[in-house]
Amino acid sequence: MKIITDEHCTGYSYPGHPERPERIARTLAKLKKQTELPITWAKPLPVEDNILMRAHTPEHLARLKESRDFDTDTPYFPDISSYARASVGAALAALKATRAGETVFSLMRPPGHHATRSKAMGFCYLSNIAISVLEALATGAKSVAVYDFDVHHGNGTEAILLNKPGASFFSIHQFPCYPGTGTRNVGNNCFNYPVPPQTPRSEYRHTLTHALEHLQTLKPELIAVSAGFDCYARDPLAQETLEAEDFYWLGQQLRRLGIPMFSLLEGGYSDDLPDLILAYLKGVEGK
Ligand SMILES: [Zn+2]
Repeated sequence: MKIITDEHCTGYSYPGHPERPERIARTLAKLKKQTELPITWAKPLPVEDNILMRAHTPEHLARLKESRDFDTDTPYFPDISSYARASVGAALAALKATRAGETVFSLMRPPGHHATRSKAMGFCYLSNIAISVLEALATGAKSVAVYDFDVHHGNGTEAILLNKPGASFFSIHQFPCYPGTGTRNVGNNCFNYPVPPQTPRSEYRHTLTHALEHLQTLKPELIAVSAGFDCYARDPLAQETLEAEDFYWLGQQLRRLGIPMFSLLEGGYSDDLPDLILAYLKGVEGK
C-alpha cells in the first residue's frame, strides 16, 4: 500500500470546525504505529495551473487567494490555495502510482468532492478527484469511473464531470443531507444512489454493491474512489450506520473488481476515523 501524504496539510484550522487537522495527524500516527499493513510513503506532485483549469475557472483560482470566507462551512485560511493545490498534487501522485501498478491512498486535506468549477463549498476548495480523472483522460485513459462513498453527495465532482466523454460518476449518499442534491441520475454519466437516514447496514451494503455492479457494466479501465468515512454509525455529521468492518468489506469489494484504482480521502469526522481508514486499506490490500 502506498500512501500519499504531506504532514504540512495539518497547518490550517478553525476552532470547532469538524474538518480538523487531527483527522490526518491521528491517522498518520495510527498507520505508522501498526505493522499488519506494509506501507510505503510518498509526497504530492507539483501542480500546473493548466491541469487545474480543466476543472475550474481562472476566476475561481484567483478567488481562492482572496481573504474572504467562501460560505459559513468553508472559511478562508491564509495560503488555502496552496493547501488545496497540495491536495490535488496528492491525487495526481496517486494516479501516477496507480498507473505504475501500485495500490494507493491519498491521505490529505482539504477534501474536494463538493468544490464546483467556480465555487468552494462544504470544506472543499478544488476538486481533487475530478482533476485527477480529467488528467487521466487527457493522458490516454479511455474510461475512468468515480465511485464516491462519502455520505454526502459529490455535487462538485458531478457538476465537473457531467457528460464528459470517458468519465462516469457513481455516488452513494444519505438523502436528505448536505448539500441537498443527488436525488436522481443526471446527464448520460452521473448515477446517484440516495439512501435514507438510519438505513440498516445490510441495506446500505446492498446499495453500495448495486452501484458497484452498475459501475462494472461500464468496464472502466481505472476507478477513482472518493473515500469518505462519514457514513460511519458514530459520525457527527450524518445519520448512517456503517461500522469499521463495513469499510473493510467495501475495500475488498473494490479490490475484487480487479480494476486499477486509487482512493482519495474525502470526509469522515468521527474520532474513530484512523480505525476506519485502516480497515478500508486492509480490505483494499487484501489483508
Ligand atoms: Zn462527507
